[in-house]
Amino acid sequence: MSQFDYDLFVIGAGSGGVRAARMSASMGARVAVAEARYLGGTCVNVGCVPKKLFSYAAHFTENFHDAASFGWDVSHGPIDWPRLRDNKTREIERLNGIYGNILKNANVDLINGHAHFVDEHTVDVNGKHYRAERILIAVGGWPYIPDVPGKEHAISSNELFYLDELPEHATVVGGGYIATEFAGILNGLGVKVTQIYRRSLFLRGFDEEIRGHLAEEMRLRGIELRFNENVTAIEKTADGLQLQLESGGVLNTGAVLYATGRQPLLEGLGLENTRVALNEQGFIAVSDTFQTAAPSIYALGDVIGGMELTPVALAEGMNLARRLYGGIDQAMDYEYIPTAIFCQPNIGTVGYSEEQAREKFGDISVFTSQFKHLKHTLTENPSKVFLKLIVDKASDRVVGVHMLGDDAGELIQGFAVAIKAGATKAVFDATIGIHPTVAEEFVTMREASR
Ligand code: NDP
Repeated sequence: MSQFDYDLFVIGAGSGGVRAARMSASMGARVAVAEARYLGGTCVNVGCVPKKLFSYAAHFTENFHDAASFGWDVSHGPIDWPRLRDNKTREIERLNGIYGNILKNANVDLINGHAHFVDEHTVDVNGKHYRAERILIAVGGWPYIPDVPGKEHAISSNELFYLDELPEHATVVGGGYIATEFAGILNGLGVKVTQIYRRSLFLRGFDEEIRGHLAEEMRLRGIELRFNENVTAIEKTADGLQLQLESGGVLNTGAVLYATGRQPLLEGLGLENTRVALNEQGFIAVSDTFQTAAPSIYALGDVIGGMELTPVALAEGMNLARRLYGGIDQAMDYEYIPTAIFCQPNIGTVGYSEEQAREKFGDISVFTSQFKHLKHTLTENPSKVFLKLIVDKASDRVVGVHMLGDDAGELIQGFAVAIKAGATKAVFDATIGIHPTVAEEFVTMREASR
């Protein structure tokens, strides 16, 4: 009889935790998952999935405008926000159920409640102790709002998904994925939006040209971008909020959304009862096999930092399960992970930005193309698509593919396969395009623009 109740005890039923639990169980491990909040974690409940549904809703505005040029007379009133919000919530509840079934069908025990460590092999959930040979921390992250006076009046993305009503004007603070996506979503839903970012250009770390073109596109859509600006205080007024700005002015707004990063959700986890250590950024420090400083405790997903993306957490969960219970000892590969920002228009990107590529490879060729989408030759929509390829001259490998335009998130996935397989510019050139599409431009870029 084992001295343990489980081989693996997973804390957190988000993307990474559920994948690790399910795969480990399918390989014969006895597994339990504890979850205090909702099944599916951030992605399903207050992240990727509801955000994408809102993003679809927001895109209709542009389509309504474009429709007239194609012969359709479409009239529309303001969005019925409660209908959108509640339809979204119903779908999320359906997905919560699916996650429950996934765990049940995989023979994973689901324990509802907050887990905390008693020691390195024991967790307590609702006063009951569970002993496990190994414990996996997959608790994810939580929005971080800096300590600005009046921060209690600010909301994070968590609350935005459940707002009672949409304000007439909203302010978004931050310049990362969430801020930029929600600036576009709110604008598309008919809210006047000001986005405030503390440095000179948002989306730090992405290709600079793409960032610049996105700023132009967002302004075209009526979003006010204020760079080199920050909020120093938030005050409640009779009809909304007043923001004190670092530059000295004030901004009256109906709601202020802080999208200023996320922190690992470690409160109440009882890490002090273990040897688990944190890294300099405050995330759980792990080896490249996801092992913490306590040998029986592992961690993966957003709680270890790095690229906080659902598919990365899924891959990490799979990697760990195979390593622990499948006898497959393969390092996680973090190179050429594609990503999309579902702003308006989308950004899709894989590989190195021009700035990163110059630093890493030295001699590079850069190919760019900016043009009007065929669809907009009939409309008055001034939006333009921007594409960029980066090639390492020494190897001829394409090391960066970047796109700003409708459906970039869909389109880049296919190019990511090619990049991962080591496609060279010669292979791109030898590939026949599909006409007439936006994507064909990626295989017809002949002369390096610089
Ligand atoms: P990010 O880390 O992407 O961006 C945080 C932003 O807030 C940065 O612009 C940062 O500025 C700014 N910021 C940080 N602290 C302060 C402060 N004290 N005052 C003012 N501004 C501040 O975080 P997000 O919250 O947008 O998203 C979290 C993570 O979730 C992302 O990194 C991403 O991994 C994931 N995500 C992925 C999505 C996708 O795949 N489409 C969608 C949404 C989220 P600075 O640049 O100066 O540091």
